[in-house]
Amino acid sequence: MFRGILISKDEAGYRSELTMLSEENLPAGDVLVRVLCSTINYKDALAITGRSPVVRRFPMVPGIDLVGEVEQSDCPAFQPGDQVLLNGFGVGEVHWGGLAEKARLRSDWLIPLPAGLTAREAMMVGTAGYTAMLCVMALEQHGVTPDQGDVLVTGANGGVGSFAVALLSRLGYRVVAVTGRPQEADYLTRLGAIEILPRSQFSEPGKPFQAERWAGAVDSVGSHTLANVLASTRYGGTVAACGLAQGADLPVSVMPFILRGVTLAGVDSVMRPAVDRIRAWNRLAELLDDRMLTDIAHEIELEQVQQTAQDLLDGKVRGRVLVNIG
Ligand code: NDP
Repeated sequence: MFRGILISKDEAGYRSELTMLSEENLPAGDVLVRVLCSTINYKDALAITGRSPVVRRFPMVPGIDLVGEVEQSDCPAFQPGDQVLLNGFGVGEVHWGGLAEKARLRSDWLIPLPAGLTAREAMMVGTAGYTAMLCVMALEQHGVTPDQGDVLVTGANGGVGSFAVALLSRLGYRVVAVTGRPQEADYLTRLGAIEILPRSQFSEPGKPFQAERWAGAVDSVGSHTLANVLASTRYGGTVAACGLAQGADLPVSVMPFILRGVTLAGVDSVMRPAVDRIRAWNRLAELLDDRMLTDIAHEIELEQVQQTAQDLLDGKVRGRVLVNIG
């Protein structure tokens, strides 16, 4: 028996609880891991609170991220004692996830823990930081370079946003951060933002075509915010879009695309092939340092997961949450 968060949905309603689970109930998979740590991402918070229909099979152990130590493996690529990393692939949505002391997983979802990162550091980064890295790589692939001008990061105090600010700044970009939490300005400046703009400047309906400002942008917010970012992106610029914290809608005109050649680069982390995952994680290991990680992330225990999930959706969590498990 081992401890884990379990989400149930039945006649009594939708609920999540910290409970005892049995290895026999773990889903099928060729690798059994002892989970060392996990995280709480936006998607985990939606699953745990039931605020959005993220979980598609019940009962479910949430947790889209984990680092664990292999206990048993039917796959020659992984041996007992190896440390492995998992992000996404529907884990925590349709397959039991990382917010429990054990997980049984498919070996093709796992990558070895990247050299240069400890289990804790990898989970301080988690899916949010790995997605921020994918967004930065999308800007690079579309030719956005630091000499072209300011790059914008929306939702800057969130998990994706904090890492996008830190990574872009580390790579030499001039980063402008958008936030609804001006009281966190010092934090964003420490991460490398050179200017901080209020969320209200982007979150309301705006003109379809605005003055050119951004060489590139990372947006985890969607809706009017993304529309305003696109409308104010410079000729030939690229916006990497990965999230919907404000909304899933996109009330935009074609003007930025047809008159300025702006590119909207969609970024998904969940089904990303292993080659991209490994490339992104190796870049993270190169670019991040301890000081940055401990500034962005704080640590909680399994007992605090439910309250923290509420807090995250209520906009009270800054940066990232590491869940210490093993
Ligand atoms: P967080 O909750 O940590 O961050 C979201 C941030 O968005 C908040 O901190 C806040 O920043 C801002 N925000 C929240 N509500 C609003 C609002 N109504 N209007 C404008 N801004 C708002 O979440 P994550 O960083 O973990 O995830 C961010 C988004 O990215 C989510 O939608 C998530 O689902 C998505 N995502 C997508 C992935 C993919 O594979 N495509 C992977 C990972 C995440 P501030 O306080 O600074 O304003």
